[in-house]
Amino acid sequence: MKILVTGGAGYIGSVATEELIKAGHEVVVYDSLIQGHRQAVHPEATFVEADLADREKLNTVFERHNIDAVMHFAAHTVVPASMRDPIRFVRENVDNAMNLLETMAAHEVNRFILSSTANVYGDPERVPIRESDRLAPSSPYGESKLMIERMLYWCEVRYGLRYASLRYFNAAGASDAYGEDHHPETHLIPLVLKVALGLNEHLDIYGDDYPTQDGTCVRDYIHVVDLAQAHLLALESLDDGSRICNLGNGEGFTVQEVVATAREVTGHSIPVRIAPRRPGDPATLVASSQLIRRELGWEARCPDLRDIIQSAWRWHQAHPRGYTD
Ligand code: UDP
Repeated sequence: MKILVTGGAGYIGSVATEELIKAGHEVVVYDSLIQGHRQAVHPEATFVEADLADREKLNTVFERHNIDAVMHFAAHTVVPASMRDPIRFVRENVDNAMNLLETMAAHEVNRFILSSTANVYGDPERVPIRESDRLAPSSPYGESKLMIERMLYWCEVRYGLRYASLRYFNAAGASDAYGEDHHPETHLIPLVLKVALGLNEHLDIYGDDYPTQDGTCVRDYIHVVDLAQAHLLALESLDDGSRICNLGNGEGFTVQEVVATAREVTGHSIPVRIAPRRPGDPATLVASSQLIRRELGWEARCPDLRDIIQSAWRWHQAHPRGYTD
């Protein structure tokens, strides 16, 4: 198939592109490079540097390429930024997705995979979280993804769209070639590794008074290659119907446990400082991954936290300052 990957120069989009190409698909990467990196674009992908706000450009891409399916990774994803500027944040995420869906409908492209998020559940009533549990986003970021999920439903009703919405828990780790490099970096594992590389002096732990075993937040970390693999399975299963699935390993680790594992992997003491809680952070987010295992036959190849951190560490050692473009 020929797949349009929006955000293919970003962290998850670059790894998904790599997996698609390995599986024999053709990929057109569409990325503004505002957050993405030119070096993260797979050399065998066709690259279009453009913004999803540019509807004319988007239309040209669908005219030029015989696109069979779209994987939509491009989005604003930083939760604290969404708390500071909710209107602009939600508007851009939703508008860009609507531009994409409208252009797809005009060109009769009806296969779509959405990067969604565990943030749609907010502070969950129970863990592990199931897809049918209460939806109460804990940030405008999660709200924007939920709005897009709802519109996918209406696009199915009106245009016959087949979609999979994958609600990511915490993507982590790296492939050999592609890793995590955000500016500014806000994610735990790359920040921990920056301390191990000597680029930062310590890690701030955001809150140690949560109702968890050591007081720090619990998250479900999933290897980015396992996450990318789930996109391929979701794509292959679209003919059976649309679906919404959690994408996590089903096991939670506290921030302190992540730091302890990173100390073992890197051999560095990784000093920490306890800082105030970060607004919008739920205490515990752990996926029930039963649905995706049952319906798509997905299995994590790298579920072990130590292996996940090890792969990230290899990538950060090879790219201590991230991508250099
Ligand atoms: N976290 C932290 N210090 C940091 C960055 C993150 O203590 O410098 C915590 C954060 O509060 C959350 C967990 O690590 O509980 C994972 O945060 P991340 O931003 O990686 O992902 P999120 O769960 O927010 O999507």
